[in-house]
Amino acid sequence: MLTDAQVELRRAAARFARERVLPVANRLDPERAEIPDELLAALAAEGWFGIMISAEHGGLGLGVLEYSLVSEALAEAWLSVASVIGYTNGSTAVIDPPSHRDLVRRMAGGEFIPAFSLTEPDAGSDAAGITCRADRVEDGWRISGRKRWCGFARSADAIILYARTDPPSADSRSAGISAFLVPKERNSFPPGLTGRAIPKIGYFGITSWELDFDGLMLPAEALLGDEGRAFSVGMRELTTARVQTAARAVGCAQAALDAAVSYAAGRRQFGRTLTEFQAVRFRMAEMATQVAAARSLTHHAAARLDSGETAVAEAAMATLFASEMAEWVTSEALQIHGGNGYTTEHPVERYWRDARLTRIIEGTSEIQKHIISRQLLRAGT
Ligand SMILES: Cc1cc2nc3c(=O)[nH]c(=O)nc-3n(C[C@H](O)[C@H](O)[C@H](O)COP(=O)(O)OP(=O)(O)OC[C@H]3O[C@@H](n4cnc5c(N)ncnc54)[C@H](O)[C@@H]3O)c2cc1C
Repeated sequence: MLTDAQVELRRAAARFARERVLPVANRLDPERAEIPDELLAALAAEGWFGIMISAEHGGLGLGVLEYSLVSEALAEAWLSVASVIGYTNGSTAVIDPPSHRDLVRRMAGGEFIPAFSLTEPDAGSDAAGITCRADRVEDGWRISGRKRWCGFARSADAIILYARTDPPSADSRSAGISAFLVPKERNSFPPGLTGRAIPKIGYFGITSWELDFDGLMLPAEALLGDEGRAFSVGMRELTTARVQTAARAVGCAQAALDAAVSYAAGRRQFGRTLTEFQAVRFRMAEMATQVAAARSLTHHAAARLDSGETAVAEAAMATLFASEMAEWVTSEALQIHGGNGYTTEHPVERYWRDARLTRIIEGTSEIQKHIISRQLLRAGT
């Protein structure tokens, strides 16, 4: 049950998404253009880069549930916009407020947006297998190696980079991984770093990059947290990120369902509207039920995190269910549009392309199953 304040927040986010995000998405997605600066500024003015950052550090001081409500509403209009607020809301375990007061305040205000770079060409699901190196030199660190899939890298104010400062230890493959803050100007790459945009099939509001670090130099203070111990900190942050992925998937699915209902009510075949065919009505009923179930799982995981409980399995379950649901619901919504669904004249194709991604980011469906089964087996021993 949501509080009055949460209902009002959801309403405000839905209004913002409808009036400010949707027209931009409909205009820019066909051009494969990134989220424009004006829209970033509008999100910042709402305070949504700092939903979960404490008021003391310039944020709204709200919880994972509120983060999910806003994310779902934004994803109904454009998945990319729901994702961009994750770069700041999801970074305070590595850029922690006690050590980085000023940066965190700027993140909360949307003035400082860091990208996140963990994945490499040969290390995706197996994130502990990264090989990008940070070598200690006299006055700092030298970075060499290749990263893949770093979203927003060129547009960001910095990149949170995971690199090896030591080889894995005998008892832990993730030991020896450290996090660094790579400073940069928006819309450029610094000397020692080149980027190649990866050609994707959707999620165009955020460009994804392959990054080549070729001896990029960082000052000693670029190290975030303890040397060699960043992996577990990053993984902790992923639990909240997974709840947000579930919320984003629910948003895509809800948008597709709404589009299907409205299309079916207006489309006539055999002398009747599509909504007069029971097969179509029942299909829409199944879609709505799946969306509601995914939303409940998402809110349940969010509420657990907000009450301080662990939610590793619950977050993975929410992501698994919501992302698979979103792929199915958006595909069915496209089917209800018939041939018109297979055009770029209706937004349902965008919801379908974008929803597909939610089964891959923040851990694939298979990795979510791995996490859930590991928790089950732990509980059973
Ligand atoms: C559009 C987009 C944006 C992204 N943004 C970012 C970003 O900003 N920063 C970042 O660091 N990363 C980002 N990623 C990377 C993302 O996290 C990885 O793509 C994801 O973790 C999967 O890794 P992979 O692509 O290397 O697939 P792989 O790990 O190669 O997996 C391939 C297939 O094998 C399966 N598989 C792998 N291991 C197992 C196993 N143990 N058991 C069963 N099945 C398995 C997978 O489920 C999958 O189906 C992004 C990816 C995409 C597509």
